[in-house]
Amino acid sequence: MGIIKALKCRECNKEYSPTFIYICEECFGPLDVIYKLANNITKQTFENRSDLTYWRYFEILPVEHKKNIVSLNGSITPLQKADNLGNRLGGLRNLYIKNDSVNPTFSFKDRPAGVAVSKAKEMNLPAVGCASTGNLASATAAHASKAQLPCYVFAPFDLEHVKIAQALSYGAKFIAVEGTYDDANRLASVIGDSNGYGIVNINMRPYYVEGSKTLAFEVLEQLNWTVPDVLVIPVGSGAMLN
Ligand SMILES: [Zn+2]
Repeated sequence: MGIIKALKCRECNKEYSPTFIYICEECFGPLDVIYKLANNITKQTFENRSDLTYWRYFEILPVEHKKNIVSLNGSITPLQKADNLGNRLGGLRNLYIKNDSVNPTFSFKDRPAGVAVSKAKEMNLPAVGCASTGNLASATAAHASKAQLPCYVFAPFDLEHVKIAQALSYGAKFIAVEGTYDDANRLASVIGDSNGYGIVNINMRPYYVEGSKTLAFEVLEQLNWTVPDVLVIPVGSGAMLN
């Protein structure tokens, strides 16, 4: 039963049942989701699907029941061939740009935030939140609003308000932290753990990072399952490297 086999420590390989846990109790290593991949899944399984959201990859996303999916119905984002830029960079004939700015809240964070909020709903958590200075706050708040869950955004108190205006417009509550972004992260972690809140980029991280990989699956499909020679990836979010 279920899609997830276990959560597995990346450092010592200890396995845990897939519950509300995010760090190895033995070595404090990060935990990865291990799936019970059905042998009959092939690339054709996905390319023939009518679902154009990233939930088309449901079997390899960490939500057990489709009824728990919290989706804003963002579609597969465009893979734009950038011939002019390729020429300017010195004759790159097959340069593509993945345009994730057309996601529902205008950034790639809709992928991990949507998966994490869905998992929070599946685990019956009372609230969600994040430590963020912008895009992640908007993505988490929008999905929380859809799921009708309270959302708390932790950020330094002197953050320019325009950066979280979008998140507030979805109904999130701003927790202004006197300190740096690292301080906001720490406070979010403590409050999340003590109240059982799903802080998507901290205590929901094993599930959260799984959403980011859907960008790579889309690129593969859009290139007719050809693996690109080189990927250029922003690493403000380390999850993109997963
Ligand atoms: Zn470990």
